Amino acid sequence: MIENSPVILAVDDEPVVLRAVERDLRKRYSDRFRIIGATSGDEAIATIEQLALRGTPLALVVADQRMPKVTGVDVIRSSLAHYPSVKRTLLTAYADSDAAISAINDVALDHYIMKPWDPPEEKLYPILDDLIEDWEASYRPTFHGVRVVSTEWSRPAFELKAFLAMNQLPYRSVSVEVPEGRSLMEAADADLEDLPLFLFPEGEPLKNPTKEELADRVGLKSHASAPAYDVAIIGAGPAGLAAAVYGASEGLETVLIEASAPGGQAGQSSLIENYLGFPRGVSGADLARRAQAQATRFGAELLVPARVDSVERKDPYKILHLADGSTITTKALVVTSGVAYRRLDAPGLDELTGTGVYYGTSHIEAESHRGQPMYVVGGGNSAGQAALFLSRFTDEVTIVIRSESLSKTMSQYLIDNIEANDAVTVSARSQVVEARGADHLESLVIRDLEAGIDQEVKAGGLFIFIGQRAQTDWLEDLLQLDERGFILAGSDLGPLVGWNTDREPLPLEASVPGVFVAGDVRHGSIRRVAGATGEGATAIRFVHRHLADL
Ligand SMILES: Cc1cc2nc3c(=O)[nH]c(=O)nc-3n(C[C@H](O)[C@H](O)[C@H](O)COP(=O)(O)OP(=O)(O)OC[C@H]3O[C@@H](n4cnc5c(N)ncnc54)[C@H](O)[C@@H]3O)c2cc1C
Repeated sequence: MIENSPVILAVDDEPVVLRAVERDLRKRYSDRFRIIGATSGDEAIATIEQLALRGTPLALVVADQRMPKVTGVDVIRSSLAHYPSVKRTLLTAYADSDAAISAINDVALDHYIMKPWDPPEEKLYPILDDLIEDWEASYRPTFHGVRVVSTEWSRPAFELKAFLAMNQLPYRSVSVEVPEGRSLMEAADADLEDLPLFLFPEGEPLKNPTKEELADRVGLKSHASAPAYDVAIIGAGPAGLAAAVYGASEGLETVLIEASAPGGQAGQSSLIENYLGFPRGVSGADLARRAQAQATRFGAELLVPARVDSVERKDPYKILHLADGSTITTKALVVTSGVAYRRLDAPGLDELTGTGVYYGTSHIEAESHRGQPMYVVGGGNSAGQAALFLSRFTDEVTIVIRSESLSKTMSQYLIDNIEANDAVTVSARSQVVEARGADHLESLVIRDLEAGIDQEVKAGGLFIFIGQRAQTDWLEDLLQLDERGFILAGSDLGPLVGWNTDREPLPLEASVPGVFVAGDVRHGSIRRVAGATGEGATAIRFVHRHLADL
């Protein structure tokens, strides 16, 4: 193990217990981590300080709660001062569980482990594996990844970087305006037309690539490996990911086709607080990463980026036509294409989309406007979450709404958080009527709807969350839709044309036998992560029924 490998720190004042923890940690993690033991809280804090001085990463603290003078919680608190993303666990006796529970709030404890933890395969490793996997996902060692050289306000560069970020592929931006950017261009023999320029730790640079070329190069797979599948799932949001997990785990040849990045809308959420099993919330990116790993582990094939342009009915099969011209044949289809934000209509918005004006938000957009005034349009929960997220990057976030207050459209817990946050203000009875800027957003014109007065304000970023439309244009007239484009299924269906089986449509089955629908794109869905995952899983049950009929 090399000197600067990430560390797992075990702390217990009882030598026998400390030896046992160290032994179990070494057995499982010593190939990637250095395991260090401390016999007291004081010793642990001194060790943490030494590690921080040397720049050694600390991944996990496993500390006994009940130690004289300095407790486990004290050790964790001290580790947080140097390592804000360290994973935190307490070792507790039954009698200490109250202290452990209050530590969940105090130091955002990730877990407490009851002593004794035998057998570790059941009581220790599953918990620690999860925490370590999380830590590794966000840990960035010295940078060896993709470098992107571009001009500052390049829309193609922004889109490709967003694509990398959504697919959780790390990259570093280098501007052509700095000496490093210019010398990288020279070394790659590139001129301005070749931007954005992508450089990799190995192999030739990519000059002004398409999304597909970039995807190919970073190891994403956008072409199916087989011509036919039992079930194809269109859209890898929570509903599609759940359908893929259940389909593949139940032995179906499963392909999951995603146009942009796994996670869908949920992938844009900085913190999902109402999804069962995550008391401190879970970021959409984390949830998507876990679900994607789960689906592919069971053998589902994930294609990304791959867009389905149309579906042809060739009973009993469906032929999917993809944007790259390829086709996939499937016996059953689950449509989980979700919803996308409606566009806001005002002068300047279309031209500046991607260079200051955004639909939805992510870390990359927030980071590129750090310290600047940011505006959020919309009064729903996603707008509220976005405003709170953006307040981590600037102390000037304004929510612009046409109504008088947020109370009718936003959950109370978000309203409370917004009220308690000094960086966020609400501009009620107002509307964005124009966006201005040469090559990027510089200012907005906001109308006071009561006074009828327009005011121009300086703006770095505008983030729009104004209702959603179903992503069903590509279905043309294959399925019955409601008047807003959402897909009808089961008992919501009207009179059927071309329904050629003896049975009635199954729940979640659309107006063509063998085509199922789950998640936000379904007429009447509850538009929540839990609803989407539940429906995705349930759809697979009906896929089995359909396959049995074939
Ligand atoms: C910012 C934000 C915060 C949210 N916060 C919460 C929250 O805290 N709690 C909660 O319960 N819910 C929350 N939601 C709602 C939740 O994210 C959605 O209900 C959920 O994501 C719906 O999942 P889905 O799989 O049905 O669709 P989506 O998540 O919309 O996914 C659909 C996927 O299909 C893909 N797709 C579409 N058309 C095609 C095509 N033709 N070919 C290939 N792929 C295609 C899209 O690229 C997309 O990835 C939030 C939503 C947003 C936007």
